[in-house]
Amino acid sequence: MSANLACPKCKEEALHRSRSRNRIEKLMKRIIPYRLYRCHQCQWRGWISKRRANGQASYLRLSFFYLGIILLSFVIAWTLWIIVQ
Ligand SMILES: [Zn+2]
Repeated sequence: MSANLACPKCKEEALHRSRSRNRIEKLMKRIIPYRLYRCHQCQWRGWISKRRANGQASYLRLSFFYLGIILLSFVIAWTLWIIVQ
């Protein structure tokens, strides 16, 4: 699946999944819909969205995902505010 994924830096299709190095990266992996990749050509290492890795146009769906999270936190904050009153 990751075999034909192009590197954002050198544009080579040499990306491979990279292991998370520390706790923050492990935590990030759980929270955000991104995965760590490393380029075997230029040694670039970074996050690429799961959807992009799956070859889908992702930005619109991703914005809806984050918009949903923001709306949800507003609803929770509003509910808590009502309870406190
Ligand atoms: Zn590269």
